[in-house]
Order: sequence, then C-alpha cells, then structure tokens
Amino acid sequence: MSSLDAAPAAVSFFSLDLEDLKAHIRNQGKESFRAQQLFKWVYEKKVYDPEQMSNLSKDFRTLLPKFFHFELPKVLKHLKSVDGTQKLLFDVGDGLTVEAVLIPSDGRLTLCISSEVGCNMACKFCYTGKQKLKRRLRADEIVGQFLRSQAVLTGDQRITNIVFMGMGEPLDNSDNVFKAIEILHAPWGINFSRRKITVSTSGLVPEMPKITAAKVRLAVSLNAPNDEIRDQVMPINKKYPLKDLLKACVDHCRGTKDKVTFEYVLLKGVTDSLEHAREVVNLVRHVPCKINIIPFNEHPGSDYQRPSDEQVEKFHAELMRLGAHVLLRRTMGRDIFAACGQLTSEFEKKPETMDISNSRIGGRVGKRSSSGQLSL
Ligand code: SF4
Repeated sequence: MSSLDAAPAAVSFFSLDLEDLKAHIRNQGKESFRAQQLFKWVYEKKVYDPEQMSNLSKDFRTLLPKFFHFELPKVLKHLKSVDGTQKLLFDVGDGLTVEAVLIPSDGRLTLCISSEVGCNMACKFCYTGKQKLKRRLRADEIVGQFLRSQAVLTGDQRITNIVFMGMGEPLDNSDNVFKAIEILHAPWGINFSRRKITVSTSGLVPEMPKITAAKVRLAVSLNAPNDEIRDQVMPINKKYPLKDLLKACVDHCRGTKDKVTFEYVLLKGVTDSLEHAREVVNLVRHVPCKINIIPFNEHPGSDYQRPSDEQVEKFHAELMRLGAHVLLRRTMGRDIFAACGQLTSEFEKKPETMDISNSRIGGRVGKRSSSGQLSL
C-alpha cells in the first residue's frame, strides 16, 4: 500500500500554515517549494480548484483532493443594514452557525469575526453569552469568514481591519485564533497587516501575553468602573479581577509600544453615572489607552436598558473633561441585530430587523423600511 492509499481524511487547506503544508508535501515525496505555489494559487489568485492550478503537474493536482479540501463555511444569510453594515450567517456544520459583521466607517471597512459558537464567559449584557459554548471554531472556519466576507464585497471595496469581537472569547480558543491570525497575516497567506488586526478579550489574563506575542492590537471589554460592578456583569472578573487585568494591559503596552482599547458598554443605572466615569478614568490612568463607549444594544430577553442619549453624551463629556482619549462609538447595524453584543448563532430565534428610528445615537441611519434585505 502506498502512502497515498493510507492517506487520512482530507483536512481543510485553510487550516494550514507554511510548515504544515511543506510537511504534508514532503511526506508524499514531493518538493516542498510546491507549498509556496499552492498558497499563491489559493490566497493570491483565489483559485480553489486544483484542476485549474496550471503550473502544477497533473499527478500532483490529482493528489491534492486526497489530502486537502478547499471548502469554506457556507453563507446561509446575508443581511444589509440601512447604514451599510452587513451581517453574514455561516453554516459551520452539525446545525451550528456563527455570524460575522462588516462595518463601514471613516473610509475603513472592519470585519468583526467570530471565534466560537456560543461562549462560556456569560457576560450578562451579551446575547452570545446567553448561549453556553457549543464549539470552538477551527482556524479554517475563522479564515473562511474572512474569505467569504471579502467575496461578498463589490467594486473596489476591501476589508481594511479585522476585529475578533464577534461571537466567543478569542482567548478561550487561542490555538485556533492565533493559527488563523498567522494565516491572515503571513506573506504566503492573506498578507493582512498585524497592525490592522485587533483581538478583544473579556479578561482571560493568563492568555493575554499571546496577543502581545502575535504583535496584534489588544482590546479589553472593561464595562465596569470597579470590581464590585464588574463581578456582577462579567463573571470572569471573579477569577481575574481588575488589578490583574490592568497589569496584563500594562505588560502588553510595554511589549508592543501600543495602546490598549477599552470597550465600555453603558448600562442604564448600572455603569452610566458621572461618578462611574470618574472611577473609570482613575482606574485606567496608568495604562496607555483609549476608551470606546458603547451604549447598550438591546436583544431579546436582555436584563439591561440602554441609557438615554442625553446620559450617554454627559458620560462622554465627563470622560473628555477628565482628559481621557475617548470615542463614542456610533452604533452600527442595530436594525439587523449586528451591533455589539447582539450576535448569536440562534439566528432564527430573534427578529431579523428592528426599528431604531427613535434613537439619535443608535439611529441616525433612518427608518427600517429598506433594512434587512436578504441576499442569499
Ligand atoms: S461579551 Fe464576548 S466574552 Fe462576553 S459573553 Fe459575549 S461573546 Fe463571550
């Protein structure tokens, strides 16, 4: 029996890095430089059919499907918001789905990518957190979200930034997430700048040095001004309290000469007072950072409420008065449930669109009449 007859079931090509592919090829007695040729066909020329890889020998092309498959997660739904945000629902097998969101702003097009189906972190304000973790995504499923999302774009649109802020805690799936980042970044892969990739964490402190080592940007879901409130809204804080989290942030800044982005969700009556704003500024004063404030986005069955636009603006103004580098993030994609904290794999259990026309901060995008158009 030849080694080919004994071949294991085909693995996804999109889960391979250069060394993996070279090793596969060498094991078949072929020249390892074929790896570079293959990556060029796939990531540069976007050719996924071995038969069309014309500079490879016929017998090598015939071998490839025995070892690799070139399938990407299937797009089940593609929703478009009135504000230009797009949401894609992907089939990842066994009846499970994840979502990715394309968010246009200020000349950029950011892809918010998922790392898990469901999430075990159980943040109280998050729709994904209401589902227990069902499965960690493989590297190819993460890379696949990028390739599929890029493929739905039209004209000269292209993804300029990637944020791991979709479903799941990326550091709870770090092997696959950092493998995917390598494929996204490497010159033989997608060749996406590390500086344009951000990994967000709820605060899995022991895993945070991996973000520093990967030389990508760090975002931290802070969401509370002190341990008492953070314990309530983010259970991970009981294990890794703010003191440890902020030390990990300082270490990242020292290791990368970069700033941390703190995400701060404003929950009415819980995290949105002016006293809380002062506490936040005091809390992060030793960390080179900017603060993104995000008015809470409702989801079915949510326990919290969105503050009034006036309160959001007062909170924002207080942070600015105290000298913080702060951004008030305009809510995007809320009408198609693509906004921060609204993602879930249980797509069919929530409405596909909602009326946001009454909110100024979230709803400057008009009425829902043309929202949520489906293009499969
Ligand atoms: S905010 Fe992130 S870490 Fe927290 S439950 Fe939601 S997906 Fe998980």
